[in-house]
Amino acid sequence: MKRLARAWMMLAISSALLSAQVVAVKAGRLIDPVNATILRDQIILVRDEKVEAVGSALPIPKDAQIIDLSDDTVLPGLIDCHTHLADGAHDDGDPVGIFRKTAAQYALESVPNAKVTLESGFTTVRDVGTYRALTDVALRDAINNGYIVGPRMFVAGAYVTITGGAGMDSGLSPDIQLPWDMHYGEANSPWEVRQVIRKLAHDGVDHIKVLSSGAVLTHGSNPKSQEFTLEELQAAVDEASHFGLRVESHAHSPQGIKNAIIAGVASVEHATMIDDEGIALAKQHGTYLDMDIYDEECIQGDKNTPKDFLQHDAELGRLQRENFRKAVQAGVKMSFGTDAGVCPYGTAGKQFAFMVKYGMTPMQAIQAATVNAADLLGKSDLVGSLKPGHYADMIAVGGDPLADISVLEHVDWVIKGGKIVKQK
Ligand SMILES: [Zn+2]
Repeated sequence: MKRLARAWMMLAISSALLSAQVVAVKAGRLIDPVNATILRDQIILVRDEKVEAVGSALPIPKDAQIIDLSDDTVLPGLIDCHTHLADGAHDDGDPVGIFRKTAAQYALESVPNAKVTLESGFTTVRDVGTYRALTDVALRDAINNGYIVGPRMFVAGAYVTITGGAGMDSGLSPDIQLPWDMHYGEANSPWEVRQVIRKLAHDGVDHIKVLSSGAVLTHGSNPKSQEFTLEELQAAVDEASHFGLRVESHAHSPQGIKNAIIAGVASVEHATMIDDEGIALAKQHGTYLDMDIYDEECIQGDKNTPKDFLQHDAELGRLQRENFRKAVQAGVKMSFGTDAGVCPYGTAGKQFAFMVKYGMTPMQAIQAATVNAADLLGKSDLVGSLKPGHYADMIAVGGDPLADISVLEHVDWVIKGGKIVKQK
């Protein structure tokens, strides 16, 4: 027994020594999105999984593992604020295909989604809903426990939605009884909204996703409609605040967007048809717009997309991009969100070029996916920039993204918590 205890102690000591391993990352160029600058020849010292120091003339401890990125541009790990990693393999092309799989299948099929997302340079995601409730919580926890590889996930658990709304598998016969996890977030009054949020908070979610307009990619849904009343949305924001949770709202229609902003959500997702009044309100309230302006390419390009989805999508894609430009010009807070799952996982980096094409500078686009995204998550002290005490999450690319933003479509190096996930 004693011997076993000693063995355990030795193991604990040696693993403590191992985990205290210092890593020194040599960065030829380092993009600092906080100060919107690029620094030359920096050293990033990492202890355990956190940044210990950053500077140009830091002494490197003798036993440090050196990662030499002297010829590369290093950036903080990217953050996608609108993903759906737990939605399985997307191998069916029809949302009704959900009935052919168990929730366990969905969760396991999502393992590669998480891996490919991380390997594409996104070390953190805000995952904003899944059609099988809590598969995202399972995915997050499996990553955090080291069972599988993936980004840091902050998850919503389920869609908080009206009956037959944008967050449900709608258009079905009333004969069909949905399993519990396909209508877990269904709510039709301020008090039902509160009840659903209490359940989700108890389940350990990180934020709350509501839907205040119809959707594009849902049968029988009209993106121009309004869902939930202002009172219901206010109940959502208030109830979530009791648990320290922020709320994001899916909204395409002008009124759905405005109701969400007035109710006090942290971000509006899509914001497709935002009008001038909505832009002014977003600015006034400090609300983030999380506009997925790339995925139009995938919706129209996919021959499996059902006809009614294509009709919803026609015109809206162009309008959203024009409104993105208006919002950028107006100085509204913007975050980077792609609706990953609409386009294949691991291709989110393609949105950067579109954000620049529609009015952002390359630095603004990088800020949207780093400092702004971290601020939206309420995690500025952990992710989004490489400051002492933050997670040592970083990426490296060969070229200069400030000269050609499209280099972020092919990230060469990914480091999460000081550990190399991908290298050239
Ligand atoms: Zn989405």
